[in-house]
Amino acid sequence: MNLAELQARAKRNEPLARHTTSRIGGPADLLIEARSGEELSLIVSRADEMNLPCLVLGGGANVLVSDKGIRGMVVINRSKEIKFNVRDTSARVEVDSGVSLISLARDCIERGLAGFEWAIGVPGTVGGGVVGNAGAHGADIASNLYMARILRRGLAPEWWTPRQLAFEYRSSALKKYRLAERPIVLSAIFDLRRDNRTNLERRANEFNNKRKTSQPPGATIGSMFKNPKGDYAGRLIEACGLKGTRIGGAKISEIHANFFVNAEHATASDVMQLVNFAKNEVLKNFGVELELEVELLGDWGQDRIKTDDLFELEDEEA
Ligand SMILES: Cc1cc2nc3c(=O)[nH]c(=O)nc-3n(C[C@H](O)[C@H](O)[C@H](O)COP(=O)(O)OP(=O)(O)OC[C@H]3O[C@@H](n4cnc5c(N)ncnc54)[C@H](O)[C@@H]3O)c2cc1C
Repeated sequence: MNLAELQARAKRNEPLARHTTSRIGGPADLLIEARSGEELSLIVSRADEMNLPCLVLGGGANVLVSDKGIRGMVVINRSKEIKFNVRDTSARVEVDSGVSLISLARDCIERGLAGFEWAIGVPGTVGGGVVGNAGAHGADIASNLYMARILRRGLAPEWWTPRQLAFEYRSSALKKYRLAERPIVLSAIFDLRRDNRTNLERRANEFNNKRKTSQPPGATIGSMFKNPKGDYAGRLIEACGLKGTRIGGAKISEIHANFFVNAEHATASDVMQLVNFAKNEVLKNFGVELELEVELLGDWGQDRIKTDDLFELEDEEA
């Protein structure tokens, strides 16, 4: 891809509310969709060469983007390839990082392959899942990741083992990097086991039913806070009597107190006020300091930069 093509496809001042599950978020100076793993690594490398700040988003299911938006370029990862390698009793699947966790779970179940049922109701992509070690129902990405292909800024892609990725509860070595320097997940390989398809479908249905009764539908940001050791953020917020509390268009769900809902045209600022309120109440009542699980992205202070200046660079390939 040359610079002219990149330029033609990039959208300017694209509202990120269109690309997050909460339907909240100001504009990205530039936004481009990567349609394959190759495009993803090319776009990120190109942006790095141009010294253009560049951030990759998957499903936007674990982020709160500021109302002022994100400076530089946002890449929406739509890489989609899935390759199964099935043997007698075991299997491996190699997936692009833009594959949705839900469709990967479905594909595995359809083939009678166990190991990914937990992800049946988890929004977002494999890339976002690896970064935050997504998990549910007692399993997580770390449970069966074999290796992930990682692009460190300015270097050639390399395969990282789970040990290098240093997974923790809802975190990994990748999450510890500053955003501007965070390596990109290009693809991942997971170990799977052969199982009975009916069993897998039953498990997945159970998980889905549980989710339907315990989590709010519609535009939400997922779990707002990490569960503190030995307790649940939702329980603590609920015990403070905060279910249903609303600031502007943002509301603490009546169904699950750790889910913050975009009830009506919520802004990121509404959500942040609600976050701070809930944090203070929990600290005051229980002495527990809640830590955000959701990542704050974007510009929470400074002024926008002029997008017209961003492409004033020579294109050797054009
Ligand atoms: C209704 C709801 C229910 C949820 N339930 C669960 C649950 O049960 N368990 C759970 O763990 N999570 C849950 N979440 C949170 C979310 O689903 C996970 O965190 C998911 O892994 C986010 O993936 P994403 O692609 O949307 O990441 P994004 O939100 O797009 O990005 C998250 C971070 O990862 C970075 N990133 C994304 N892709 C890449 C990449 N390819 N390379 C490098 N960095 C990347 C982004 O820059 C950002 O910093 C839920 C969310 C919602 C809205």
